[in-house]
Amino acid sequence: MKTVLVIGGGVTGLSAMYELNKWKKENNQDIRLVLAESAEQLGGKIRTVREGGFTIEAGADSIVARKADSMNFIQELGLEEEVVYNAAGRSYIYTEGELKLIPADAVFGIPASVESLAKSTLVSAEGKVEALKDFYTKNDRFTKNDSIGDFLEHFFGKELVEKQIAPVLSGVYSGNLSDLTIASTLPQVFDYKEKYGSIIRGFEENKKVFQSGGGKKFLSFKKGLDALIDAYEERLDETEILKNKQAVKIEKSDHGYIVVFSNGETLEADHIVLSIPHNAAESLFDDKELKAEFEPLKNSSLISIYLAYDIPDSELPEDGTGFITANTAELTCNACTWTSRKWKHTSESGNLLVRLFYKSSHPAFASLKEMNEEEMLQAALADIEKSLGITAEPLASELTKWTEKMPNYLISHPETVATLESRLGREYPGIWLAGCSYYGVGIPDCIKNGAETAGKIIESL
Ligand SMILES: Cc1cc2nc3c(=O)[nH]c(=O)nc-3n(C[C@H](O)[C@H](O)[C@H](O)COP(=O)(O)OP(=O)(O)OC[C@H]3O[C@@H](n4cnc5c(N)ncnc54)[C@H](O)[C@@H]3O)c2cc1C
Repeated sequence: MKTVLVIGGGVTGLSAMYELNKWKKENNQDIRLVLAESAEQLGGKIRTVREGGFTIEAGADSIVARKADSMNFIQELGLEEEVVYNAAGRSYIYTEGELKLIPADAVFGIPASVESLAKSTLVSAEGKVEALKDFYTKNDRFTKNDSIGDFLEHFFGKELVEKQIAPVLSGVYSGNLSDLTIASTLPQVFDYKEKYGSIIRGFEENKKVFQSGGGKKFLSFKKGLDALIDAYEERLDETEILKNKQAVKIEKSDHGYIVVFSNGETLEADHIVLSIPHNAAESLFDDKELKAEFEPLKNSSLISIYLAYDIPDSELPEDGTGFITANTAELTCNACTWTSRKWKHTSESGNLLVRLFYKSSHPAFASLKEMNEEEMLQAALADIEKSLGITAEPLASELTKWTEKMPNYLISHPETVATLESRLGREYPGIWLAGCSYYGVGIPDCIKNGAETAGKIIESL
């Protein structure tokens, strides 16, 4: 009997195992399915904490609705009735000591009309005039594998990018725009330039794609995002699920592989899915050449701090759902989501719940990460006082450090993954890389990649 072992019980591993489990049942296959997860619970970067009437997402908080709609995992997992959408609202940028609205009619800070550009309070008149060169400058030098920062700056000039677009885009894609490719972020900007001759006109023509659903751009579940994890777990009825089971080594055996766990136990498998971060995957092999192929893959860090208050969230600026920090000298946090505003289900009483994001790209992060939890909370309270004027003591707080856990998609990423995969395919047939380190960080990307990986295994079985 063949054995398929999935190492890593995040959403990628669960999606892969769900497909394998379904295939085993539907086809009455004589196969052993094992899922090994090092933590005491499944979910990885999806973890919901419930405290004092607040629903707190320590990791991911939502799924891009457009992507989920193009797939069928919500229906397949019976979660349609559980879906909730974000409340539509406006985002601010904190700059020069105040919150300024991101202009209406902008997509990731990119103006989707000349009017939107004209009305921006974030950019000077000179900056706006410069940005108009988008309408008459041709693309004769960039491909989708070039940096999105260079691309946008070439057509819009420095000021619009620096003051309005970069704070939003680099927050969404976790990185410096000069280090991120067009292909891995917003390939539309390239396509629109080609098709319409102007990025602004492209967004104007395609507004519907970004504004469909009346602002319902993201979805979650009434009881929290971990409903997704629970739904997968419930359906793995033909799978042995091993929690608190950390893989520490993979060795070749006569017919496949032997996986060694931290408690000394071993398991022999024919196929192994490594749906764990790339640095965890790399550490399993005693193979210098293979390790070198992992080397170019990098992670960054993030600290998430929630503060829950005994004050109504109507204290906050009307219609707003959060802000992004433009100038890192002004606040220690990179961004702040007004969670109870954006997600009604997260606060039973309607009281204020806010989430602050601290990223390793921020100059203050180096000293922040050395602090103890109490000191970090004080830094968060100082940011809240400065940006929102709230001085009240919070009722509850939640702090999670995602140290070296956020994959960076550098310009070399597609090439690195292709070389790594081809070496693995040659030297370690039957071992498959999957998940956020390689094929997209969004939850729908991870689910799709998990399912595709299972498909490849089923094909080869
Ligand atoms: C703070 C934060 C906010 C985010 N927000 C969003 C969002 O709003 N929307 C969105 O779409 N995406 C978001 N993401 C990204 C998304 O959550 C992740 O990309 C996705 O959940 C990754 O799933 P995965 O299964 O590939 O990896 P992971 O979730 O990292 O799962 C890997 C699993 O492997 C386990 N593991 C590691 N090593 C071993 C080992 N040696 N043996 C056994 N098990 C091991 C880990 O414990 C973990 O459970 C966010 C991520 C973070 C950190």
